[in-house]
Amino acid sequence: MEYSSQLEAKSAELARTARKLREANEKLTQISLQKDAFLGQISHELRTPMTSIRAFSEILRDEDNLTEGEKVRYAGIIHDEALRLTRLLNDLLDLSVLESGQVTLNMRTGLISEVLDRAVSAALAGAEGSLLVRRRQGTEAIRLTSDFDRLAQVFINLISNAQKYCNAPQPELVISVHDVGGQVVVDFIDNGGGVPVEVQSTVFEKFFRVNAEKAGGAGLGLAISKEIMQRLGGDIVYLPGHTGGAFRVSLPLEEAQVGQG
Ligand code: ADP
Repeated sequence: MEYSSQLEAKSAELARTARKLREANEKLTQISLQKDAFLGQISHELRTPMTSIRAFSEILRDEDNLTEGEKVRYAGIIHDEALRLTRLLNDLLDLSVLESGQVTLNMRTGLISEVLDRAVSAALAGAEGSLLVRRRQGTEAIRLTSDFDRLAQVFINLISNAQKYCNAPQPELVISVHDVGGQVVVDFIDNGGGVPVEVQSTVFEKFFRVNAEKAGGAGLGLAISKEIMQRLGGDIVYLPGHTGGAFRVSLPLEEAQVGQG
């Protein structure tokens, strides 16, 4: 009797181990498929600028009858595509450093308005378009301890996105800071068409673009922003219920305190 119950216990244990092995195997297959898909997307994104650099440099090399205007235009295309490649490679490198958890944070304490000032100037400097940025200055007297460069990087990305994707005749972005339920939140709400409801949850995925043909970027900006905010102990989410593009950046109160201004 005792022998048979021991046997039963052993076989239950074996069944448990087999199930765990099967689950681990499924997880590995899933990770490997995700990796393949990621590599596929990277090669696709690299191929497009590479193809045009090759084609236009061959024309410049082989065609004898090009006008000066054509030469300048083709050289300009090569230059722009090389810049696009550099941006893409920098983004991929940044993402892989952030995802590996090997990122060094330079924490310091200061006002949130300082980070926003920097981000607004950097995003608007030399950029095309006429985005009007409105700030609720009164709400910005919050001191926080964070990596200001990384936080500014997230803010710059959101302001540049409003500039690129806000399709209102007079594009406007409202930035407001609040202290909500133990968190400091910074909302970025523009008056454009926003992200369609059905893809609001996918917008932070790598390489996601609503309108891939029209978008200039590779769809990595928000994926990078998400990684940064998680490393900083906070988060970034899409705010549903707005007509325009609406993003909320949050940091826990341990990282932020309402200050004297
Ligand atoms: P990229 O780095 O290529 O600009 P992002 O990851 O920053 O890509 O953004 C992903 C996609 O989300 C964009 O291609 C765009 O379709 C959409 N998006 C981002 N911000 C806005 C916004 N403010 N309004 C409308 N669509 C937006």
